[in-house]
Amino acid sequence: MSTADDLAAVITLDETFVMRTYARKPVMFVRGDGMRLYDDGGRSYLDFVSGIGAVNLGHAHPAVTRAVCEQMSRLVHVSNLFHVEHRARLAERLVGLFGGAARVFFANSGAEAIEGVIKLARRWGRLVRGEGCTTIVTAERSFHGRTLGALTATGQASKQQYFEPLVPGFRHVPFNDADALDAALTEDVCALILEPIQGEGGVFPATEEYLHAARQVCDERGVLLVLDEVQTGFYRTGTAFAHQGYGVRPDVMTLAKGMANGLPVGAIVARDEVAAAFQPGDHGSTFGGGPVICAAALATIDALERERLGEHAVAVGEYLAEGLTGLARDTGAILEVRGRGLMVGVTLARGEAKHVAAAALERGVVLNDIGEDILRFLPPLVCSTVEVDALLSILSDVLGGA
Ligand code: PLP
Repeated sequence: MSTADDLAAVITLDETFVMRTYARKPVMFVRGDGMRLYDDGGRSYLDFVSGIGAVNLGHAHPAVTRAVCEQMSRLVHVSNLFHVEHRARLAERLVGLFGGAARVFFANSGAEAIEGVIKLARRWGRLVRGEGCTTIVTAERSFHGRTLGALTATGQASKQQYFEPLVPGFRHVPFNDADALDAALTEDVCALILEPIQGEGGVFPATEEYLHAARQVCDERGVLLVLDEVQTGFYRTGTAFAHQGYGVRPDVMTLAKGMANGLPVGAIVARDEVAAAFQPGDHGSTFGGGPVICAAALATIDALERERLGEHAVAVGEYLAEGLTGLARDTGAILEVRGRGLMVGVTLARGEAKHVAAAALERGVVLNDIGEDILRFLPPLVCSTVEVDALLSILSDVLGGA
C-alpha cells in the first residue's frame, strides 16, 4: 500500500513530463478484478466505464492473462511478412462472427482501423465506381478517433478546431435523418461511415428505420456502408456486433476497444469483394496482428462466449435502464435514458455531469461524463444487478443532492 505522498509524486511527474492531452482525475488505480478497481491506497471502486468500453470481460480476466503470458514466453513479435497462427485463427473467428465471406486487416487502435477504412473505401471507389469516387460521408456528432483522417470523419467541430487543414473529401450529415442521406450520397461518394450507437457523442442509438434506410440507399447508389463498431462490438449490446441486433449487415466494419480486453488492437472486417481492393503494398502496420495481441483477442472472444456475456449484457442492461428510469421519476434529475445492452447514457436535467461523476468517484464509483449534461455507463459485461443496485443507490444520493 502506498501513501498520499506517492500519489502526489506521480501527479507531479505526470504534470511535468506528460503532454496535457487529458485532464486526469486525482486517482491512481494499481489493480483490477472483474468490476472492481483498486487505488494505490487499497480503496475499492466499481468501474462503470471499463477503461472507456475496453475491458468487456472485466479486469484481469485469468483466461486472457494466461493466453498472453503463454504467448509472451514463446514469441512476442514477428513481422507481417511472415505467417502467424493466432492471426490467421483470429481472422477466421472474426469473419465467422461477421457471417462469412469477408477478410480482416489488423491494426492497433480504433482510429487506425478507421484510417485503413478510408484508404480501402477510396481504393475500392476508384476501382469499382471510377476515378472521382472518393468522398466519404459521416454523421454529425459522430466520433471515429483522433488521427487526422479519423478526426476529419468525426462530426464534431470542437475536436477539429486548431488542426486544420483537415483531410479533403469528407461530408457530414445529421444523424438519424434518412432524407439527409438521400441528398448526400451523390455520385462522388464511395462510403458512408456510421456508428450503430454514437458513443463518445453521448450514447445516441441509430433508429432501426435509419440503419435500414442507410443500407437501402447505399445499395441503390453503390456506396459502401461502413459501421464503426469500435465501441459497440464484442457483445456490449447483446450480439457480437450491434448491427446484428438491428438486422443490417454492413459491407465493412471497424473493431477495437473490447477485442482484446484492454490491450491495444484494431481491425477492419470487409466483405470479400471490397477487401479485394487492397493489394500487397497498399496498407500495413508493424505491430498489427502480432502473436500476443491475437492470442489475447482469441482468449477474449472465447471467454465472452463461454460466459454468455451477450445475453447477460442484455438482461443487466435492461435492469440498469429501468433503474435509471426509476431514478428519473423519483429525483427529476434525469431527462432521458437511452442505449442498448450495457451501453447506456442519460441526459441530466440540471447539467453538472462533471460534478456528478466527481461525487460518484468520491463514493467509489467510476463514471464517465460527456459535455455538460450526459453520463455514459459502459461497465464490464460481467456487471451484476447487485453492482447496478450499488450504483443506483449512490446516484440517487448524488442526484438527490445535486
Ligand atoms: N470509433 C469509435 C466509435 C470510438 O468510440 C472510438 C474511441 O472512442 C474510436 C473510433 C477511436 O478508437 P481509439 O481510441 O482506439 O483510436
